[in-house]
Amino acid sequence: MSIYITPQDELHVEYQGIALTCPHCQTLTHLTPSAIPKFEDLSRRKPKQIGIVFQCDACGEPVFLKFFVRNYTATRIELAPNYIEVERARENFPLTYLPEEAEGLFKEALGCYAAGCFNAFGSMSRRTAQSLFRELGERGKLEMFDTLQEIRTLAELDDDNFAALRGVLFGSDSDPWPNHPHLNAERAGILLEVMRDLLYQTFVRKERLRQAMNFRKFVAPADTDADALRCEAPP
Ligand SMILES: [Zn+2]
Repeated sequence: MSIYITPQDELHVEYQGIALTCPHCQTLTHLTPSAIPKFEDLSRRKPKQIGIVFQCDACGEPVFLKFFVRNYTATRIELAPNYIEVERARENFPLTYLPEEAEGLFKEALGCYAAGCFNAFGSMSRRTAQSLFRELGERGKLEMFDTLQEIRTLAELDDDNFAALRGVLFGSDSDPWPNHPHLNAERAGILLEVMRDLLYQTFVRKERLRQAMNFRKFVAPADTDADALRCEAPP
């Protein structure tokens, strides 16, 4: 994707333009530039990084992005296509079914992720896991490990990523240094999706099933003996 500022102070973005999940309305949407730094001013000062304010096409709120400058020429200021989101959208997570302590810890983990502090996100994810293991006991911990293995197969995680995730969630603080794998943006994104699935499988799915079963019991018509017989014996 080629993206640059012209001497007329216009931002040119090839292909689809810039689309992201808006930090205000959480919609995946396109952005329209609303404040672009002046070409002349930039050409004189030549900063390595510049900021552009956009407007969310869905809700109209301002979204601020930072770009690295690739190249200054007389006809364009070329920007690197991968921008930095200053404010990131919060991840939507159904946390209500989690044990209270784990819910509090994981909320902070999500806050770290939204702020782009990926190693802090990893550390808080580990604390969440430790809290859950305490709550669920040894058997629950083994079940969660089985779930992680399933996710590995389903999502076709490679060995390096799997080893890192296992290290984050199932490693111990007393392991030899470094006892916590380093997380970059990509790996933190994978960890986020794994946590989503792991927590869903372990708590949300179970709780929803339990509620659905209770609801069925509540609304099911009372069996009469005749009904029961008809069900058992096919005609
Ligand atoms: Zn918006």
